Amino acid sequence: MKNYPITLVTISSVVFISLTLLWPAASFANNEETVIAEPLESDREPNKLSLLETVTIDSQEYIIPESWQDRKLGPLPLAQSPLVMVPPEFVKNNGHIYLLPEARDTFQKMAETAKKAGIAMIIDSGYRSVRYQKKIYRRLMDKGKTFAEVARYVAPPGYSEHMLGLAVDFVPSNWHFVDNPVYQWLKEHGSTFGFNESYPEISSDNRPWEPSHWIFRPTISPLQTARKFK
Ligand SMILES: [Zn+2]
Repeated sequence: MKNYPITLVTISSVVFISLTLLWPAASFANNEETVIAEPLESDREPNKLSLLETVTIDSQEYIIPESWQDRKLGPLPLAQSPLVMVPPEFVKNNGHIYLLPEARDTFQKMAETAKKAGIAMIIDSGYRSVRYQKKIYRRLMDKGKTFAEVARYVAPPGYSEHMLGLAVDFVPSNWHFVDNPVYQWLKEHGSTFGFNESYPEISSDNRPWEPSHWIFRPTISPLQTARKFK
């Protein structure tokens, strides 16, 4: 039996929101050349000490903070599909960002439509594997942050919508995005393309507002969208 050091934290929403607002811009462009989504873990990782969810990074087990408990994302059939690259003209520094095909195609259509209206849409993150999310944690913990501190503004591995290949972060991927014309355009037209704000200003579960993070979750068909924007 191994004994794992455990970091147990409880963060109030107020502290969570304040820190989210104060934290400097964090950019997590995925420079990996990965083009196939990794299979997602279907089961919660076992924690022998309590019923709390945990995640293991480099053989060390960490308790998921309360604000993320019960939010682990399950496997989606879509996640096994090959990923496709977003046209670099819509990516920060012309980087390589991948999404699932329908999300990429629709994002591209949306960005091109916005461009015609004088709105320059740029993203700095798309698909991120669980492994890559762990790498982000490792990097920040190597700099002296605790797991709990990182979890205040970065979804734990297994909890990020980015692993679904459907979510993007617009630039600037921080609080200042609310003042960006792209945000206003998205509020007006994003849902027409099936893109929705995952963590809006007002939510039923009091999640911190994350204006630059949007997910492709269409409720109307791409054909209807095409008709509307003809
Ligand atoms: Zn995001």
